[in-house]
Amino acid sequence: MIKDESDAKTILDRLGKLSVFLKNLDADAGNDECFNYPLEIIQKTMMFDVSVLYKVSNIIEDRLILEVVKVLDPKKSRLDLKEGRKLRLFLDARDKRYVNEVNAFLNKNVSCINVPGMGCDVMGYVFFPKDCGGAYLFGGDFFGKEASVKDFEVSTVEIMCNFLSTILLKTQLKQKAEYDGLTGLYNAEKIKEELGILLKRLERKPEISASIAMGDIDFFKKINDTYGHIQGDIILREVGNILSMSMREYFDMAGRYGGEEFLLILDEIDGDRAVQVVERIREKIETTRFAQVDRSGKIIENQFLNITMSFGVAHLNNGMNNGLNKGAGDFSTLTNHISKADNALYASKQSGRNKTTLFKETN
Ligand code: GH3
Ligand code: MG
Ligand code: MG
Repeated sequence: MIKDESDAKTILDRLGKLSVFLKNLDADAGNDECFNYPLEIIQKTMMFDVSVLYKVSNIIEDRLILEVVKVLDPKKSRLDLKEGRKLRLFLDARDKRYVNEVNAFLNKNVSCINVPGMGCDVMGYVFFPKDCGGAYLFGGDFFGKEASVKDFEVSTVEIMCNFLSTILLKTQLKQKAEYDGLTGLYNAEKIKEELGILLKRLERKPEISASIAMGDIDFFKKINDTYGHIQGDIILREVGNILSMSMREYFDMAGRYGGEEFLLILDEIDGDRAVQVVERIREKIETTRFAQVDRSGKIIENQFLNITMSFGVAHLNNGMNNGLNKGAGDFSTLTNHISKADNALYASKQSGRNKTTLFKETN
């Protein structure tokens, strides 16, 4: 049996598909999901019977630790390659079944030493910066007696590996540009962008109700001053968690607007209902016991801290029915709405903190 051969036309056609995929890449797909479609394309282009993607997990002494991220193995011929499984390979390539994996990793290039009947025929190195999670390996296996790898196939794997690293980088960069590193919430730019999108929708459909809320941790400076910055960061992260969890239940989006300030978008909710939702979150924060750490960040057992937060809510449709809704997605309108929520927040602070205030024109 001779293996199916890939040809120049198939390769060019599939490379085109990969570049289209790259252009339209959905940034919400996590790193692992963003591989699904490209791996399928690559497998079909190369006519691999098995294709596999590993993440380089670690190197410990003379061992290379690989984690199997994705496998396409319709004939179930490589049961050793189960997704999520970790392989510990000697760096001197004594594990004959994984010779190409080790070579590709050591040379940071494509390796295609054929070991008939054993392991993958071709394996390539997918560059990915260390601070973004480190390298990957990708390759495949042909079955059949005359399954030797041609030069142009080696070059194709090399191109595919470059594509994969671009896909990874693009996903990661987009995520970095949209999310706040400490809390995992949207960053200020992204939450403002989302608010702009919502305002444009409200402009088209003024009958829809929506609100925003601005929240700010009370006396946060004192926490930093008394317990240290690490403690402050831990509280910020936990507040981010509470908001994320509440988000699924009560509202749509949350972003870290500034240091200890958060902006929530509550779609399809009027001001009064938004206040009820935000009150529940405020109570949750008030009753949460935050782990206490010493100045080096070590948890102090059985010691907890309590904090409170103040909120200001603004109903976005205020004034929208009297002709003021024109250009609702404009920057000036956007900051106008944010400053309403900010004013209401200020009122909460002025009247004793740990409160939620709804913005009214007379505030
Ligand atoms: P108020 O109740 O009036 O809001 O008082 P406050 O102390 O919370 O407000 P203030 O604006 O005076 O202080 C905010 C503090 O938040 C000061 C700053 O050090 C701290 N902060 C801002 N960003 C971070 C961060 O990323 N990590 C930590 N640990 N602290 C931060
Ligand atoms: Mg504060
Ligand atoms: Mg503040």
